[in-house]
Amino acid sequence: MQEVVSTVLRDHLKGERLRIALEVNTLVRRKMADLLIEKGFLEIPPVIFSSVTDPLNHPVYDPTFEYEGSRYSLTKSMIFHKQMIVQEIPKIFTFSPNVRLETPDKAETGRHLLEFTQLDLEMLNAPREESMKLAETLISETIREVRKKLPDRLRSLHRELPIPKTPFKVFKFTEAREKYGKDFEQKLSEIEKEPFWIIDIPLKEREFYDREKDDEKGILRDMDLIYPEGFNEAISGGEREFEIERIRERILAKGQTFEQFKWYLDYASGGMELSSGFGLGIERFTRFICGFKRIEEVHPFPKVPGKFCI
Ligand code: AMP
Ligand code: MG
Repeated sequence: MQEVVSTVLRDHLKGERLRIALEVNTLVRRKMADLLIEKGFLEIPPVIFSSVTDPLNHPVYDPTFEYEGSRYSLTKSMIFHKQMIVQEIPKIFTFSPNVRLETPDKAETGRHLLEFTQLDLEMLNAPREESMKLAETLISETIREVRKKLPDRLRSLHRELPIPKTPFKVFKFTEAREKYGKDFEQKLSEIEKEPFWIIDIPLKEREFYDREKDDEKGILRDMDLIYPEGFNEAISGGEREFEIERIRERILAKGQTFEQFKWYLDYASGGMELSSGFGLGIERFTRFICGFKRIEEVHPFPKVPGKFCI
């Protein structure tokens, strides 16, 4: 058994596909960081564990540990840390390692890992539309760069990769769901030829922290970016709730406790301003660029839901 695992691993590590994926991964991270730095963003170091992390809106196991009498979680996303630091430094980004112990049914999607990296960024006083425009630039300019710098690699993968035209198409969540049914994201992802947005996602589909529209109760000022060709979700983001009373109300509406988010709430009580931002999965972007069926092909040591991993 040990021998079989190590042979499979050796073949994977030796493989041409992994080598190309890592070249793409390196270029993707560098190009996106360069673009952000040119636009005045500062990079902040990642938070690996914290006493407060993203509650998420889907079930995952929660790895926690105790240190000197306090309980900590491994970071699921840096949403709260981003929102606090952006109050002082108005444009920030980080390459944030996230651990999400997803349930085994996620193994079949081809886009879930237990450990992955997000390009996570946030801007102060920026409406959602500014974040959407920035994401479009990052995606299209990075694809342009890969086509320019690694054309032979794309050719050897037989990957046609057109530069997406901006602005991307926009669908409203409820309208898309009505037209295409429950599985609308996957269906649209298979129909569409270019990346597209799903906006105005209802409160019950999302965590408590995205901002509710003032003129449409229960609908949020948020968005997901979906890749075409069936690759599905690339990005989630939105404007954030920043007023303490609204944050408290939303936590209660989700059946969560103030205790869980204690020092975030303490901070928010001191006053915050509006921000928006998003998280873009690096392994998913690399997978899309390479046109691979499964995300584990882009990682030397992938952790697949439900499977033993090294
Ligand atoms: P979220 O805010 O939860 O949507 O996460 C932000 C982005 O991280 C997503 O849009 C994906 O690109 C990426 N992501 C989320 N979960 C995973 C996962 N289990 N494996 C790989 N990438 C993920
Ligand atoms: Mg999401």
